[in-house]
Amino acid sequence: MKINSLHEVLTDYVRDLYNAESQLVKALPKMAKAASTPELRGAFEEHLGQTRGHVERLEQVCEDLGIKPKGKTCHAMKGLIEEGQEVISSTGDPAAKDAALIGAAQKVEHYEIAAYGTARTFARVLGELAAADLLQTTLDEEKATDEKLTAMAESGLNREAAEGDAADAPREDAIADRSTAALDESEADSEDAEEAEMRTGEDDDSDAAAPTPRGEPPAGRRRRPPSPTVTRRGR
Ligand code: FE
Ligand code: FE
Repeated sequence: MKINSLHEVLTDYVRDLYNAESQLVKALPKMAKAASTPELRGAFEEHLGQTRGHVERLEQVCEDLGIKPKGKTCHAMKGLIEEGQEVISSTGDPAAKDAALIGAAQKVEHYEIAAYGTARTFARVLGELAAADLLQTTLDEEKATDEKLTAMAESGLNREAAEGDAADAPREDAIADRSTAALDESEADSEDAEEAEMRTGEDDDSDAAAPTPRGEPPAGRRRRPPSPTVTRRGR
């Protein structure tokens, strides 16, 4: 790729964003469908409406700059949507899944915030003030969406997921303890127990191999004597 001028760099940014927003218009309805609460579904649907506006605003930016919007694939958004798809197709605790959906959406917002911020600055430097204003307007909406998602994560969705963790812990132990007697139970039940045991085993392996995620204490769900230095979720 040859870059000859700042105008070309801006063109590249705007086309990249145009493709990114177009990908999002297709992905957000799937995110909304995967959400388990009306609040989160509503937030995704509201942002879908905004995102359609972002596409139109970029078309206006392109008109101002005298360029065509098409011609680029945003590989970053492709990857972020793929990660979102992994969450969408996951099963398990609905509150935990909602928390993961919020996280996936915030990664998207942060990418957009970075790209719009840079594009806005380039437009300003080039004296393309109308384009800069349009880019700033979308940037403000992306930031507002990000803050809204943070508020949703704080106001209960993630707390529910955390409570789910606390409620799950003894249940998993019970299943594991029960599993020696699984043969006495119905076939379906014993399959459930084996599956649960496998899952628990996998979790233990990954916990052992990986550094502790999100600053959580390492011994989260293991049955070990409590240590003064390791307390459960200091929140
Ligand atoms: Fe957007
Ligand atoms: Fe967005």
